[in-house]
Amino acid sequence: MGVGTGRVPGAIERLTSWHLLPFLAIALASIPLSLLPPDEPHAGLLAVAGVITVAAFVGAAAVPRGPGPPSLVVLPPLAYLVAVVVLRHAEGGAASGYGPLVLIPLLWVALYGERVHVLLVVCGITLTFLLPILFVGGDSYPATEWRRFVIWMVVSPTVGVIVNDLVRRIRAEAGANERRAQALEAVAGISRGLGHGAETRLRICEAAVTASGAEAAFLVEPAGEGILRSSAIVGVDLTELTVTVQDQPSAIVSVYTSGEHLFIPEAGEDPRVSPRIVEATRAVSMLLEPVMRRGETVGVLAVLWGRRVDDPDDFSAMITSFLAMEAGVAIERSDLLHRLDELARTDKLTGLHNRRAFDELLERELARAARTGDPLALALLDLDRFKAYNDAHGHQGGDELLSLAASSWKQCLRDVDVLARWGGEEFVALLPNATPPDTVEVVVDRLRAATPLGQTCSAGVAVWDGSETAAELVRRADAALYEAKERGRDRTVVA
Ligand code: GH3
Ligand code: MG
Ligand code: MG
Repeated sequence: MGVGTGRVPGAIERLTSWHLLPFLAIALASIPLSLLPPDEPHAGLLAVAGVITVAAFVGAAAVPRGPGPPSLVVLPPLAYLVAVVVLRHAEGGAASGYGPLVLIPLLWVALYGERVHVLLVVCGITLTFLLPILFVGGDSYPATEWRRFVIWMVVSPTVGVIVNDLVRRIRAEAGANERRAQALEAVAGISRGLGHGAETRLRICEAAVTASGAEAAFLVEPAGEGILRSSAIVGVDLTELTVTVQDQPSAIVSVYTSGEHLFIPEAGEDPRVSPRIVEATRAVSMLLEPVMRRGETVGVLAVLWGRRVDDPDDFSAMITSFLAMEAGVAIERSDLLHRLDELARTDKLTGLHNRRAFDELLERELARAARTGDPLALALLDLDRFKAYNDAHGHQGGDELLSLAASSWKQCLRDVDVLARWGGEEFVALLPNATPPDTVEVVVDRLRAATPLGQTCSAGVAVWDGSETAAELVRRADAALYEAKERGRDRTVVA
């Protein structure tokens, strides 16, 4: 069995009332035909047939979309068969010529319904021809009518089932094509994507799910000695998955160590799959593909089906293996890009954010403060007489002081605070939620007290006024720092 034909929504789910119109037109048009000679019309019965016809079609339009009890879906076509019975009776029974109208509900369910609907309507057609013979008989339904009955018994299931199968096959094929196109698009998106590592990993898993018609996928990668840990999971409510290389026998470990892919039709019964994983993911079948980079296995991509799959179809298998190959390259590329981006935003000497990164963070924090109304303070710190320190201890000694100052100050700050190297021997700290100004002063004085190697520094602090721009805020802090230097250094001045 292939898995390429994932469940395609029943046509009844997508049905619109417009589909009913041609059927309604034929059904209604057939009623005035009885006005034609030679018979006298039975106005009462014709009206009954007309009302049932309209009611059946209104019912068909009103039946809720989506999988529901079959009775609800077949009720309108069956009701229409009652209209056919009435029409035939009104026009002299078997000789009326109205028998073929049973094709209307039959084709309707064959085109838009499931097999069970077709079979129920075939039963309805059986009764439509059988009951009048049994209970009315006579001239209206003579013995020859049995021939008609037998012919319909053969024709209606044959036509109904063949048309229904054909339509469902076309629909499934269209669904599979749509899925293939989506899968190829997802794969192309990964090749083009420049997202960061976590995003790329998630997109690989999403593409694997789309491509294989599976329910879930995850990616595991080495995380320290002898440990494989999930780096992305989609489709299951699981935050993390860890496998140790000692876990034996383990399907994931064996794919990782052998570099060979593995398909497991019944994960619950396979000793190589830990019951923990089966329970957490509710996987029935799974496909494990090694993720390769330059001939080396660097992870495992797992695709999980919540139903039993005997053998993944060629497209699913091919695209999953292609995705795993692509994953190796895409992950490396996005990790490299991420690393490059980090480098471009980090000060090499101190490891702190550099000015470019700080500018971005400042804008973001200002926007957040504007949104939440939380206070935000900015402190500029400048080592006192650093030039003299440089002169006394050499440039390298000066570098060591800069680096030490950065790490000591960082230790005094909370996670939400931001410390960056502004340039030279100047640093900048962004302190959200430190209220009121005197509290900020306490924080900054604590920072200054942590200045290492017996050195001091001066600080200028400005608390955001709620409307000024980033440049204006920095300018005020800078003026305060200037004042601190003017007033003899080793102090904090709040603007
Ligand atoms: P003040 O108390 O007024 O701040 O005096 P100062 O000597 O600290 O300030 P000044 O601006 O006169 O000197 C700053 C010095 O910092 C000058 C420059 O050589 C030095 N400097 C800037 N960047 C670095 C660096 O990356 N490493 C080292 N070692 N020194 C640096
Ligand atoms: Mg300076
Ligand atoms: Mg200085």
